[in-house]
Amino acid sequence: MSEIWQAALCDLKEKTSSHNYESWFQNIKCRRREGRQFFLEVRDEFQKAWVEENYLDLIEDSLVAVTGGSVEITLDAESTYASKVAAQSTQDALQIDVQDELVAARMGRMPQGQMGQVGAPGQMTPAMAWDAPVPAELRAHPAAAAPRSFADTLAAAGLNPRHGFEDFVVGASNQFAHAACSAVAENPGKSYNPLFIFGGVGLGKTHLLHAVGIEALKSNPQARVVTMSAEEFMNELITSLRQKKMNEFRTQFRNNCDVLLIDDIQFIAGKDSTQEEFFHTFNALYHSGKQIVVTSDKLPRDLPGIEERLRSRFSWGLCADIQPPEMETRIAILEKKAEADGITLSKEMAILLASSIRSNVRELEGTLIRLGAQSSLLGQPMSMDQAREMLSRMDIDQRNQVNTPRIIEVVAREFEITPRDIRGKRRTRGISKPRQYAMYLARKHTDDSYPSLGEEFGGKDHTTVLAAFQKIDGLIEAKDPEICALIERLEGLLLG
Ligand code: ADP
Ligand code: MG
Repeated sequence: MSEIWQAALCDLKEKTSSHNYESWFQNIKCRRREGRQFFLEVRDEFQKAWVEENYLDLIEDSLVAVTGGSVEITLDAESTYASKVAAQSTQDALQIDVQDELVAARMGRMPQGQMGQVGAPGQMTPAMAWDAPVPAELRAHPAAAAPRSFADTLAAAGLNPRHGFEDFVVGASNQFAHAACSAVAENPGKSYNPLFIFGGVGLGKTHLLHAVGIEALKSNPQARVVTMSAEEFMNELITSLRQKKMNEFRTQFRNNCDVLLIDDIQFIAGKDSTQEEFFHTFNALYHSGKQIVVTSDKLPRDLPGIEERLRSRFSWGLCADIQPPEMETRIAILEKKAEADGITLSKEMAILLASSIRSNVRELEGTLIRLGAQSSLLGQPMSMDQAREMLSRMDIDQRNQVNTPRIIEVVAREFEITPRDIRGKRRTRGISKPRQYAMYLARKHTDDSYPSLGEEFGGKDHTTVLAAFQKIDGLIEAKDPEICALIERLEGLLLG
């Protein structure tokens, strides 16, 4: 039995980050097994709640993989609350009180507002500074310092639970920003500070920002993470000024915060008093080694209306950019979202969407959701023609952009054949030539790789696309007058 569980643990180790594995799985023991039912034991109630909420499916998958059949899992905490209470000496009375309130809070008997006050000063404050050594007491009973469910903790920190690292698809366009964010989440205040993430609209800046907060809270549920947009920061500032509560405002940001996540900092451009306040907040946090992450649509030096002293501080740490995702990444994002939302998405459909919507992930997602909604209304998967029609009605501003479907369309029109011919398998000269031109143009004018072009050209091997590109490129190099004129004409049509 323990061998089965060891094998499942090995599987889990491969599926999760080493940090996650050590925090949540490594110490789980398999106490008993009755047929297909596994009785697992975790350290305490906190781990039990956490694992139940987040990892039960994962554990189940691993056990199914190892045993080759369905399983049932029962989780138990090593020492139940009652036995803990019995074991406590009178010295630990305070601790018991806290546990008591905790349990009450879990069971929903305690009003939200009071939760933060659980605990004795200096020992059970709801949030511990990152640097402060965690008292042994707390390490042994993390539940004592985490009075809420994780979902509540995230909500209180202003974090969207759907924006974790595991929901983020990494590709060349965002790899650097992703790596920087992971490093910061693992070691807040110690790796890159501040971390400045910049990039265009809908490319995942907010997503990564929240992922940092979520991950930081996973490793340390006591961390005080504050997430807000620069606009919210300003609104709170104004309210505090009006209500003469500036001391509270300053304490909240400067003293009660371990990780400050500020979204869309460009908003404070030209807003001098907000900048002034933010500047002091920044300094206070920075000098006490707290982590600051900021997102923006531009590099610090390109931010108009932001004071020099603030811009220069933004550049102290690391600036990481996010670029529009490549074809493969767009397809992977679609597939991931489709799976998460239970939408059936064929490869062909994913390619169609990913090649039509290229520079905004939010729009890509929106289209997928519309597609899912329509197909559930129709009660059947959407046909490619229906999807094309939906796309054409969407008035996507990128329609005039150069992308592979458009290149295929333009070339086909020019040679009086159909896009289907170009994507098809026929090799008559009248079709294979234009196909090669289209492949050449697609490679030259899009960021699509050879394999993804192969897919877009009707499922051809990437070497076919490569050969076509090299052939036409060679003719152009050799200044073949006919080919040069033709390609120039096609480019004129494409680029307008
Ligand atoms: P930004 O803040 O840069 O405008 P968001 O972070 O709000 O963009 O991203 C827009 C949407 O696209 C969000 O729903 C986000 O989850 C999703 N998204 C963006 N990039 C990715 C990615 N690489 N993987 C998965 N989802 C992504
Ligand atoms: Mg955003």
